[in-house]
Amino acid sequence: MQLKYEPIIGLEVHAELLTKSKMFCGCEVVDSITAKPNHYICPVCTGQPGALPVLNKKAVELAVCVGLALDCKIHTESIFARKNYFYPDLPKGYQISQYDQPLAIDGKIQIETEAGIKEVRIRRVHLEEDTGKLSHADGHSFIDYNRSGVPLLEIVTEPDLRSSEEAKAYATKLHAILRYLDVNSGDMEKGVIRFEANVSVREAGSEGLNTRTEIKNLNSFRALVQGADYEIKRQTEIYSRGGIIEQETLGFNEATGKTYSQRGKESAHDYRYFPEPDLPPLVLDSDWIESIRASLPELPEAKTKRFIADFGLTPSEARFLTAELSLADYFERVLAKSKSPAKTVHSWIAGEFMRYVNDSGISIEDITLSPESFAKLIDMTADKVISGNSAKVVFNEMVKNGSNPEQIVQEKGLAQVSDESFIQDAVMKVLNDNPSEVEKYLAGKDTLLQWFMGRVARATKGKADPNVAKELLVKALEERRK
Ligand code: ADP
Ligand code: MG
Ligand code: ZN
Repeated sequence: MQLKYEPIIGLEVHAELLTKSKMFCGCEVVDSITAKPNHYICPVCTGQPGALPVLNKKAVELAVCVGLALDCKIHTESIFARKNYFYPDLPKGYQISQYDQPLAIDGKIQIETEAGIKEVRIRRVHLEEDTGKLSHADGHSFIDYNRSGVPLLEIVTEPDLRSSEEAKAYATKLHAILRYLDVNSGDMEKGVIRFEANVSVREAGSEGLNTRTEIKNLNSFRALVQGADYEIKRQTEIYSRGGIIEQETLGFNEATGKTYSQRGKESAHDYRYFPEPDLPPLVLDSDWIESIRASLPELPEAKTKRFIADFGLTPSEARFLTAELSLADYFERVLAKSKSPAKTVHSWIAGEFMRYVNDSGISIEDITLSPESFAKLIDMTADKVISGNSAKVVFNEMVKNGSNPEQIVQEKGLAQVSDESFIQDAVMKVLNDNPSEVEKYLAGKDTLLQWFMGRVARATKGKADPNVAKELLVKALEERRK
């Protein structure tokens, strides 16, 4: 009998916090791609003997924001710990992290997949510092310590995810929440959010957990899905032929889509964790925590509910719009300027607007199309000032040149005409020019009406109001029956 296997995935996510200065020193946090390497460093973040860390309060505040947004219990006392290991990107020889007393525990995130809505438990959220950045080229290795000591948040789930699709849904949702809270820039290409997937498989329906492997350096949603899928398949094959899985740490090669062994999995004791002697316990005032809770912005779930209740959108329309804060904001700004119902604005955003965003690769924050102009276009179309087809032409012109829709309609002569005599002339011309089609229509080929509509549209350069055109066509055709 062929056994069925079920994947089990737990995710560890590292997210840089958007502070001005680093976690334990006053060095500026800079763009890791564009800033001059090793120009934003000091004795503290390069681990010089005797340099002492001083905690960045803003980093703690942002971390508490995340903990609260994820429905965690915030510890009013947490402990920094040294995680000892050697690597060239870690100048102190240890990373300051949190271990057995993290900042926050026991949270949750709601995700949605084809299978429906599910809650993923968050095991812990803790503060630590980022490492430097190694790169290799032309047989040399380079190290940039600008990133060394940048505040980093680690968010760890319980092993609750059951497919790469769920892992992606979780990662996407967490990414959105971090953007909503404005605690992370969300720029995945810059490595400000990194995923590690812990993967095991077990016989479907069984209870215990099997040995897992941990895939490091997953820096995009795509890599997360590919890495997890590859690992699920690899482990399933090994079990199917009676083999065993070794606990190990794996790398992921984006070019091949394959994981590869990096090292046998280290255990906690390998890191010789001990409390950081240079930092006192982190003690938080509960009033301060409550004031942060009170200042949390509206989060994706709440926004979705509001869009459904206040705007009459369906859950899937609302979720589409709230998946990204920038999209939700843009939608609301257009809606505020438009007379049209939310559903109409939603279909424009989901249709023409998203097509433009995807094709151009421009991020929504950088779009120059003003919500006012967009709203005007939507209303002009709803009021039948222009036809749906002309509206698309105007939209493309607007995003290119930024001009206002009325001007474009005028310049391009796109105004829709419902003046009956103008349309009637076109109808008569089309019927007179096509006697054999008229004959076939009158003989019962009703589908030709659509063809006549097309001819009228062409004759009027798309300016005829289609409803008026249809009415006049039917009338003129019926008259020829007599
Ligand atoms: P460590 O801190 O040593 O990496 P943890 O036990 O804290 O290990 O777990 C890290 C992550 O691995 C968590 O997200 C957890 O949910 C996940 N995990 C633990 N055991 C398994 C397993 N058998 N299969 C899949 N994921 C697992
Ligand atoms: Mg781990
Ligand atoms: Zn520094």
